[in-house]
Amino acid sequence: MTPAAHGPVVAENKIIDGALLAERIKSDVAEQVRALEERGITPGLSVVLVGDDPASAVYVGSKERTCIELGMHGETIRQPATISQAELLAIVDRLNDDPSVHGILVQMPLPKHIDSDAVVRRIRPDKDVDGFHPVNVGKLLIGEKDGFAPCTPSGVLYMLQAYGVQTAGADCVIIGRSNIVGKPMASLMVQPGVDATVTVCHSRTRDLARHTRRADILIVAAGRAEMVTGDMIQPGAVVVDVGMNRIPDATKRSGTRLVGDVAFASAREVASMITPVPGGVGKMTIAMLMANTARAAAQLREVRS
Ligand code: NDP
Repeated sequence: MTPAAHGPVVAENKIIDGALLAERIKSDVAEQVRALEERGITPGLSVVLVGDDPASAVYVGSKERTCIELGMHGETIRQPATISQAELLAIVDRLNDDPSVHGILVQMPLPKHIDSDAVVRRIRPDKDVDGFHPVNVGKLLIGEKDGFAPCTPSGVLYMLQAYGVQTAGADCVIIGRSNIVGKPMASLMVQPGVDATVTVCHSRTRDLARHTRRADILIVAAGRAEMVTGDMIQPGAVVVDVGMNRIPDATKRSGTRLVGDVAFASAREVASMITPVPGGVGKMTIAMLMANTARAAAQLREVRS
């Protein structure tokens, strides 16, 4: 799924609009699903939810709803937090063997008694639409296109490309080195064809601002509310804020509000383009998951036929 077919989007008021792009991706996926239907394939995503973490339940619910909205089969397999490792692995095995399931996702975090890495490694790589299996991590790093890249960094790259951001030769600074965002983001940005010069910063980085101030593209995924301020940004830089942090806000009925890792108002003053929170990267993640699931269905069929 590439943005090239649509032509560049123009940023209004410097805003990179994740909601707009997510709708565009979803409509492309719906079209792909219709084409697969004509070949007798209904893409299916199975999400395994362990325990009753409210945030995880919200994410999983919206994944299932979006699948159905796009004509795919979406199912959530709910299990108690007391499930054993062996029982959870047996569910993954069953989904691995089920030909009507094209994408498998085990919602993280899992309870402490379960080895999350072992669960991720058990998922068939060609059904691992989250892109966390070591085979897919390796494929991303060496540039093999038939693997799955994690959804959030893929969504970020899609945003940059959709808004016509020049990545070739650009200095791209990423804050965060997690396996979910920072590291795969770096792998995507350095690939031939994207061609950025990448710096990855983390909590042991000395003088963070020295790095951020020379970034043409600054991608922040640190999980620290509003830690990047306008004075840390090079004038004209493109700023992508992956962070999602709930902070207290007495003016809201819930008593909290969602903010990113970037102090939006001061950053927008200096940036040429910026993603808002909410309405930015967060919207892209589920859209990319749908795109990965449709592709998994198309690829699995190709292998079988
Ligand atoms: P992690 O906590 O796994 O990783 C955070 C990274 O930021 C670590 O590498 C850490 O360094 C680094 N870091 C933390 N503080 C600093 C600091 N002061 N200076 C420099 N580096 C720092 O988080 P994730 O990668 O999972 O998520 C990052 C953020 O993105 C979170 O807010 C999360 O909610 C959000 N997110 C949003 C998604 C979306 O769909 N929009 C999806 C996934 C995540 P070190 O390794 O040294 O500890």
